[in-house]
Amino acid sequence: MSDPGSAKVLVVGAVNVDLVVSADRLPQPGETVVGPDVASHGGGKGANAAVAAARAGAAVRYCGAVGDDEMGAAALAELSDEGVDIAEVARVAGVSTGAALIVVDPSGENQIAVGSGANARVDPDRVRVAVSRAADWGAGCVLISTEITPRAVVAAVKAAADKRIPCVVNPAPVLDELVEVLSIPDILTPNSSELRDLYARTPSAGADHGSLTETEMAIALAERLEVTVIVTLGADGVLVVDPAGGATSVPAGPVETVVDTTGAGDTFNGVLAASLAAGDDLVVAARRGASAASMSVGHVGARTGMPTAEAIERAAL
Ligand code: ATP
Repeated sequence: MSDPGSAKVLVVGAVNVDLVVSADRLPQPGETVVGPDVASHGGGKGANAAVAAARAGAAVRYCGAVGDDEMGAAALAELSDEGVDIAEVARVAGVSTGAALIVVDPSGENQIAVGSGANARVDPDRVRVAVSRAADWGAGCVLISTEITPRAVVAAVKAAADKRIPCVVNPAPVLDELVEVLSIPDILTPNSSELRDLYARTPSAGADHGSLTETEMAIALAERLEVTVIVTLGADGVLVVDPAGGATSVPAGPVETVVDTTGAGDTFNGVLAASLAAGDDLVVAARRGASAASMSVGHVGARTGMPTAEAIERAAL
């Protein structure tokens, strides 16, 4: 990274507790599958990305909300232990901390149900203040993931633009309210299903979009919105498309055995944000993000395999 020590990132998004069962296969509707054990990990796309950015060497502030319960205290302790600044996190009385129920099969594929809890109570005013303070702090990137109050997502997008802080939005999920402000952020980072969703929901999508390739859709979306679109494509790496429609393919890193892809996208986004805040060029930052995300899929849990700055540097040599 150009200068990881100088990189400052504000992450706005969800924090959850992940309860993970490894089973022989994923359940069908109405079916119960049984695994030998249950593991509990810190999760939530925002908090995971904050950890990925911190491990990559950035100074990271996280803005979100937890309940006033033991899960919330544990989730915040885990973030602090990773060096993430949690001063902007609200503790909401009488509400559960968000939780995700995750089943992972032997190929690393997963199925996830999320209870939003306090993530659905993130206060837009609090987010605006956090972005404003981040501007004074000298943040080089605001990373927003959308599993929180829709109005808080919109507030974060607009506040980052007002303060002229480069802004990355991971549209997972694609919220109705987000569709209204899609041209404001600098970078959108959908995976392939979110790309289809975004493409279909922005004005002037042709009726035949079902037949378009991911590359065609990403180019059309980037040109239409005048933003950079980076599509994460699992084992196929990422596709970077600039607002003029120029596309660059970045391969995934080498993986010996895929164990669990949970959090791969979060790792990509966190490392991308850290790298951009450190002054790296867009494609270099995408390369680092993809490489780090591929390292993460070799381990169980969203955060266990997230690499350190040294590991990311070694892979880049
Ligand atoms: P998730 O929701 O599971 O966090 P996602 O759908 O947001 O993931 P993906 O496109 O699956 O994101 O993965 C993000 C990045 O992780 C990829 O661009 C790639 O670099 C890496 N990755 C994911 N799966 C694999 C894999 N099977 N082999 C190698 N790298 C992978």
